[in-house]
Amino acid sequence: MENQQTSLKPAPRQTGHFRWPLRRRVQLVFFILTLAVGVQFAIFVFQAGELSAITVQRPPGVEGFLPIGALMGFKLFFTTGTWDPVHPAAMVILGFAALISFGLRKSFCGWVCPVGTLSEWMWQLGQRWFGRNFRLPIWADYLLRAVKYVLLGFFVWAILKMDRATIEVFIHSPYYQMSDVKMLHFFTRMTAFTAGVLIFLIAVSVFIKNFWCRYLCPYGALMGILAFFGPTRIRRHADNCIHCGKCARQCPYNLPVDQKTKIFSPECSGCMECVRVCPVPNTLELKTFGLWQTVWSTASVAVVILGLFFGSIYLARVTGHWQGNVKYDAFRLRLKQVDGPGKISSGIRGQSQ
Ligand code: SF4
Ligand code: SF4
Repeated sequence: MENQQTSLKPAPRQTGHFRWPLRRRVQLVFFILTLAVGVQFAIFVFQAGELSAITVQRPPGVEGFLPIGALMGFKLFFTTGTWDPVHPAAMVILGFAALISFGLRKSFCGWVCPVGTLSEWMWQLGQRWFGRNFRLPIWADYLLRAVKYVLLGFFVWAILKMDRATIEVFIHSPYYQMSDVKMLHFFTRMTAFTAGVLIFLIAVSVFIKNFWCRYLCPYGALMGILAFFGPTRIRRHADNCIHCGKCARQCPYNLPVDQKTKIFSPECSGCMECVRVCPVPNTLELKTFGLWQTVWSTASVAVVILGLFFGSIYLARVTGHWQGNVKYDAFRLRLKQVDGPGKISSGIRGQSQ
């Protein structure tokens, strides 16, 4: 049972020991990297649309925002042995996220995901402005937390019921080829409704810690499930504990670290904030149990995450599993179709866009 109140009431004021702990620096690196990839992709699409000279490459990293395509790619891979040739990087990034989340709690959310980082900045801003964040009543918290699992369940169910031929048709469809462009247009051609929803999510994140991640993100739900079955946990040595409660107050997911000896919750993001603020050495630790028993320092988590990220990209590049196979001419043609009056088809019966 997590540390919750039964009514909307202020969470205690929190303090940090360091302005820029290591994890936050790693988060900043991934955030800047994501921004750079987004800007490069926007320039690429603009140049392709203007039929001018293309001076930048289409960055495969943008496919990190195509998790549903990646899940379909994995189904194709497990049923046929074929790696998605259109958006191969989507599978690489999802594979990396799944691996670190299984091994090091939901660390993709706590260390890498730019949306998680933005959410964190929002509630930290809220703390600065109002001196506190707020918690929903326990019944609302549990009810809302189910939403992300329902969304994940829907996507997984839809993909599982698609047969191999349907997935192959989809993956080679013009719709899928342009799915990263459509995602870009989601932001650059935002409707008033979309803007309203985004503003609401950002505003509510100022008051409630990690609102999007905690309640709505199906990607985070998947990472949480993997972490739940993973071998790593935050462990508290009760004999050392002086019950100051600093760990629980610092936890971005409001977990009752000061009351449990092990944190099993799928919400734990392996962020090490509880370990960092604990005033008694060797009381809290991030530990992998089982065959490869390891106690992780924050630096070793950072090294593994960064090493796996850049290592998996390098491996994917040299083995031809990173760059998609859509040529520039075909891309320009598809772009005209996206921008033109006609619709491009997903190839799946009854669906087009
Ligand atoms: S503060 Fe500790 S318990 Fe809370 S999410 Fe981070 S690592 Fe997990
Ligand atoms: S911060 Fe450390 S000493 Fe304080 S309650 Fe948590 S585990 Fe115990």
